[in-house]
Parts: sequence; structure tokens; C-alpha cells
Amino acid sequence: MATTSFTKKMLGLHTVKPDVPSPLGNGKPGFAKKLKLAPSKSKRKDIPEGLWTKCGKCGTMVFDKEWDENLKVCPYCQYHSPIGARERIHSLVETCTFEEMDAGMTSVDMLEFTGVASYKSKLEDYQKSTGLKDAVVTGICRMGEHRAGLGVMDFSFLGGSMGSVVGEKLTRLIERATEKELPLIIVSTSGGARMYEGMFSLMQMAKTCAALAYHAKARLPYISVLTHPTTAGVMASYASVGDLILAEPGAMIGFAGPRVIKDTTQAELPPGFQTAEFLLDRGLIDAIIPRKELKSRLIEYLGFLTVGRVRAPLPAPE
Ligand SMILES: [Zn+2]
Repeated sequence: MATTSFTKKMLGLHTVKPDVPSPLGNGKPGFAKKLKLAPSKSKRKDIPEGLWTKCGKCGTMVFDKEWDENLKVCPYCQYHSPIGARERIHSLVETCTFEEMDAGMTSVDMLEFTGVASYKSKLEDYQKSTGLKDAVVTGICRMGEHRAGLGVMDFSFLGGSMGSVVGEKLTRLIERATEKELPLIIVSTSGGARMYEGMFSLMQMAKTCAALAYHAKARLPYISVLTHPTTAGVMASYASVGDLILAEPGAMIGFAGPRVIKDTTQAELPPGFQTAEFLLDRGLIDAIIPRKELKSRLIEYLGFLTVGRVRAPLPAPE
């Protein structure tokens, strides 16, 4: 049997040779040089990846399990970090009740757009990195006892930009909701129209709004939920025409960016400009709702807005 001999160094009992001579100048050793602690950088390397997430606002490290349970909202500063479309849907609908529509619909590079990279290669890259076909996921779901049409955008796919697929999927969802007499919820996050599709993307603004007009004509409610950020062509079309417009805390909401507005108007912008709180104060938004309360509040609102309507039958219990 092999024996291990422990040296004093291994046990941390060795004497550290003093580096600094005595200030008395007698040639004798002075203070032992203070042992340096490892720099914090290398310490961080010891933390296994995928266990902690750093809050994008306050910088606190949050245990991943807590981060996910809190729906990516920082428990210390309440910063609402971006959340993917599928995760959002999971947090809103009753388990196994989401029937996705047009899951395979994919954008086509109609203009053969080439910039730094071609639109075609961009699409392929984002489809690979996000696992999505485009920047919106749509379907019919059940929330509480209500059946509803639900569309959720995902900012991680080309900045949540609205191209012809986003417009077409949302339009089909709105038309399905109208046909089935269902209320509608769209959770938006977008940088605006997709420049790679030029006029085709701008046309989606009119198309989605026209479909919403038919939905409204059938006296069906539409709730628009604005999350960080919702801007430009999306804000200027379906996101801003809800019967109820809700927003997440701290979300940036607007049409043009603050720098463009400042340069155009040559005026100093007020503090908090283009935040959800600023717009609530001025009446554009009806309520600001923390992410964790969104589902229960939506169910409550669907209850108010569909009162007196004959509800669509619930699916048979499993
Ligand atoms: Zn934080």
C-alpha cells in the first residue's frame, strides 16, 4: 500500500521567507511578504458555467434555478431580462393547451438582399441559434378557463423584426381568432420592420391592422402586451391598437429612437422618456404588470372583457 507523506507546504504550515528587509537596517529579515490572494478573475473561472446568471442591471449573480423560477426577473432589482417566445408561452398558458399554428412558415429572400451578409444566410444563422423559424410564435391556447389566440414575439430572432412571415402568421392568428370568436393576446418585442424585406415588411403593418379591425368589428377583445423593447413599425401598427395595452416594468416603448427625436426636435427630452412608466403616466398604456403576475392578470381581464359572451367550449379533460 502506497503511503503519502505530507510536507509542511502541502499542509500550509511552512514558513514564508520574508522578502522585505527590516526597516531598522540591521540586515535582519523584516515583515513577511503578504501572500497575494488570487485575483477575482480567476476565482470566477471556478464557478461552473450555467449555474449562475449575472443580472444585466444590478450585476448581482443569481442562482440559475431562482432566475428561471422568477421568469428571468432579477429578485434584487426587479430588472426584467429578455425572455424567449417559447418560455413566455410556457409561463402563460395551461399545460399542453397550446396548439401552434403555421410552425413551419419560413421567410423567403424576395429582394435577394445582400449587405455585410446575405439575408438568406442571416435567416439560416438565426434559425440555427434560436431554434425558431421566425420572430413570432402563434397559436390557440387556454388560459384559466378562457380559450384565446396567442402570438408571442422573440427579440433574439433578428431583433424581433417584422417581416412577411411575422405579419402573415399574426394575420392568420387574428383571422382564426375572429372565425372562432376568441379573444386575442399579442406579446410584442421588436426593433420594427425588417429592412431585408423592404416594402414587403412595411405592408405587414396595414395587413395586421386590417385583420384586427375585423376582429374588433366582431366585438372580440384584443389585449396587446408590450415588452422591452417595442418600437418602430410594430409599435406603429398592431402593438398600439389593443383594447387594453399592457406593458412590462421598465420596457422601452416608442416609434423612433430618442436620439433621432432629439436631433429632429432640437429639444431636451424629459427624464424616463419612452419607458413604460412614462407612457402610463401619459395615458398610452393602461397598466404595467410584472412578468410573474401577467398570467393571472390576463385571465382576470379576459373575464371582464368576455363577460356576457358565450364562451367557446373547453377541450375535453385528458
Ligand atoms: Zn438586478
